[in-house]
Amino acid sequence: MSTPALKIYNTLTRTKEEFRPIDPAHVRMYVCGPTVYDYAHIGNARPLIVFDVLFRLLRHLYGAEHVTYVRNITDVDDKINARAAERGISIRELTEETNEVFQQDVKALGCLEPTMQPRATEHIAQMIAIIERLIASGHAYAADGHVLFDVPSMQNYGRLSRRSLDEMLAGARVDVAPYKRGDMDFVLWKPSKENEPGWDSPWGRGRPGWHIECSAMSWAHLGETFDIHGGGIDLVFPHHENEIAQSCCAFGQDVMANYWMHNGFLQVEGEKMSKSLGNFITIHELLHTEKFGGRKWPGEVLRLAMLRTHYRQPIDWTVKALEEADINLQTWRRSLGNVSPRDITGIPDRRVVLALADDLNGHEAIQLIGSMTEDASSQVDVANNLAFLGLLPHRYTQRGFQEAMERITNKFQMQESQIEDWTAKWNKFASSPVNLGELSDIEDAITSDDLNTRIEVRLAARASKNWAESDRIRDELAAMGIALKDNKDGTTTWEVKR
Ligand code: AMP
Ligand code: ZN
Repeated sequence: MSTPALKIYNTLTRTKEEFRPIDPAHVRMYVCGPTVYDYAHIGNARPLIVFDVLFRLLRHLYGAEHVTYVRNITDVDDKINARAAERGISIRELTEETNEVFQQDVKALGCLEPTMQPRATEHIAQMIAIIERLIASGHAYAADGHVLFDVPSMQNYGRLSRRSLDEMLAGARVDVAPYKRGDMDFVLWKPSKENEPGWDSPWGRGRPGWHIECSAMSWAHLGETFDIHGGGIDLVFPHHENEIAQSCCAFGQDVMANYWMHNGFLQVEGEKMSKSLGNFITIHELLHTEKFGGRKWPGEVLRLAMLRTHYRQPIDWTVKALEEADINLQTWRRSLGNVSPRDITGIPDRRVVLALADDLNGHEAIQLIGSMTEDASSQVDVANNLAFLGLLPHRYTQRGFQEAMERITNKFQMQESQIEDWTAKWNKFASSPVNLGELSDIEDAITSDDLNTRIEVRLAARASKNWAESDRIRDELAAMGIALKDNKDGTTTWEVKR
């Protein structure tokens, strides 16, 4: 069957265009990632989910090994410095801790890991190289330890946001500084004080401006020109406009990326959810606390709630939308009655692909799945579509099963016979219908099932004062990396030792 044509709305041309990759054997996408100083909010979750769906679609259309998705981690920023100082911890500690929570959050949202997640602090050399090129070609100048991009030196600056210089000046909060030649000129490099993070450069010890990092990381991992660049609509100006200016002028190219895609806002009472307005809910608190509607929410529920609205439209945040998405998900999962995880390949239905290929029409894709759940003969298709869209926990798919299996066998140092034993149990789970509605974690189930049996045998041995047998079981488990704890009330609990 022929591959359906993918159409995407390109902010650069303000039209829906047919997607033609530079090289179909290597489709390349860059999406601006988080600044790791604080937990991400559910507005930030929107681009994560939208571009994850696009990543999945591209993998389906071009083959997983032919798609590279780069999402950066901004780990140098003045907000990071301020927060680390406020908390009295090192910058590294703060960025590591925040990134760890971020990675757990995106996983819970059902997102695949991007091909690469480069960090800004590991690309300082590339940033310096780009800045040097810009100075050499007359597009940037050094002044007072700063390096600035000379905006009027670029003929078609403003092409993405379609604003004239006058409009940009009127609309932007422009810092007036003595070292700037023009009001719109923006910082590529700035000096660092002793207590601020800094790197040696031809312009003295300093640190990069905000925009240069994305030009550097996309260049390092995707080349001078690539296919798709994405982010939220607020990034069009100035961030993406400035990325284009830096990359095009440094590399002498007309384009940085051929297609620019932007998601709409998640709003609260008509306003963008944002840290600065203080109207935000973190992904973490939605998943792990009962502050919203009196319960915790699985990541897939937020994911479905978001996918139901076209990615370019605004969404108004309500608990009601989550409740509706939750009811849908529960109903759909219940309709999978006879499907066993082994049947779930995650290969989507062609109609769902067609809907998504039309500028990611998630709304239509979701509606299609909804109508399919009413047809008992399409259970496996529904499961595959849900898995494809990231709406079924990964562990219920074939690949998820294999990975969990590897985790289990790696987690415990097991003997051959134990591995065989557990593999058999595992296979039984994978091939019998699982009640997906309950969402019990099979990995945990296997682990505790097996351990509980051993613990019971050991308790019986202790009851009959067979200390040798009791110690043997304890040692055997210890060898697998499990510590037993005999409690005062006669029960025994266990934990995995690190
Ligand atoms: P930031 O941390 O503000 O740089 O945002 C990270 C990503 O989330 C960027 O792609 C933003 O455009 C996007 N974003 C921030 N706030 C929202 C929101 N309320 N709705 C949708 N996307 C957002
Ligand atoms: Zn960026």
